[in-house]
Amino acid sequence: KLYNQVQDLKGSIRVYCRVRPFLSERSSYVSTVEHIEDGNITISTPSKYGKGCKSFTFNKVFGQSVTQAEVFSDMQPLIRSVLDGYNVCIFAYGQTGSGKTYTMVGPKDLTEKNQGVNYRALGDLFVLAEKRKDNFRYDVAVQMIEIYNEQVRDLLVIDGKIHNSSQTGLNVPDASLMPVSSTSDVIDLMNLGQRNRAVGATALNDRSSRSHSCLTVHVQGKDLTSGTILRGCMHLVDLAGSERVNKSEVTGGRLKEAQHINKSLSALGDVIASLAQKNTHVPYRNSKLTQLLQDSLGGQAKTLMFVHISPEPDALAETISTLKFAERVA
Ligand code: ADP
Ligand code: MG
Repeated sequence: KLYNQVQDLKGSIRVYCRVRPFLSERSSYVSTVEHIEDGNITISTPSKYGKGCKSFTFNKVFGQSVTQAEVFSDMQPLIRSVLDGYNVCIFAYGQTGSGKTYTMVGPKDLTEKNQGVNYRALGDLFVLAEKRKDNFRYDVAVQMIEIYNEQVRDLLVIDGKIHNSSQTGLNVPDASLMPVSSTSDVIDLMNLGQRNRAVGATALNDRSSRSHSCLTVHVQGKDLTSGTILRGCMHLVDLAGSERVNKSEVTGGRLKEAQHINKSLSALGDVIASLAQKNTHVPYRNSKLTQLLQDSLGGQAKTLMFVHISPEPDALAETISTLKFAERVA
């Protein structure tokens, strides 16, 4: 059976939204999310003029009680298409604290039940590769990088430097490429990446909210009958926090960080929006992130923009701004 017959399906862009639950038992809070139905989400926007509402439509909206397993099962077909030779990009977007890392990795107290997309995706690829082993041989390798202030760091080497090497066929050139053959290999590498990320963080402050981190999974599949080789790759990207900072409150390094984040998130939005509109010119060159992912954005590639929002009233302005960003690329 040929698994690459789906090649003639068009590449696609889809947009999902997830609302995280309240974090404490402060029941005096009223969620800004008024209603969720299918792909629709309605936000209540109270103002001094009275009660208002705004609705947005996406491919899918997950409410606060949706589990990690349910979110993954929805993304599973997209992720599995990597084994058929597709390129896939999944972006977690949202303000700091909205649940991006929870979706992609999981919470701090990681268990099998609450682990995020990254672990589940790799685990699932190994299960599927095993099922197909009579017809295909798959080789899987991963890279982990971080983009901070438009500089790329390799998270799988201690010093973070990108070492030039002769590795070919990579979308993220020259970052170390580690072969993996089991879920436990992946967990070890992800832990190493997390540790190296922490080493690079000089400030007392958590830098993870101000850098983009990207786990790239390269899959090469060989059809054992015909000898045909299929290559697919998947980028799982935990983006920097999208919150706008008040220019009068930050200066120096923090202002520079904020400007880099702002610029790269809007460059990403521009690229996806122009792909969605099928424009002939796609502005990939405007940020490091879109440059690196150029081969996996557009064409036959599949993109999932997964935006995250917080339910608290004091997050309302950022919530609306996140949903507007998402609406623009949908
Ligand atoms: P971000 O990466 O966007 O800054 P986090 O993923 O770190 O946000 O989430 C902030 C906090 O909320 C963390 O303590 C996280 O465990 C918790 N959290 C986020 N989403 C959920 C969820 N769907 N269910 C339970 N807890 C969540
Ligand atoms: Mg995070």
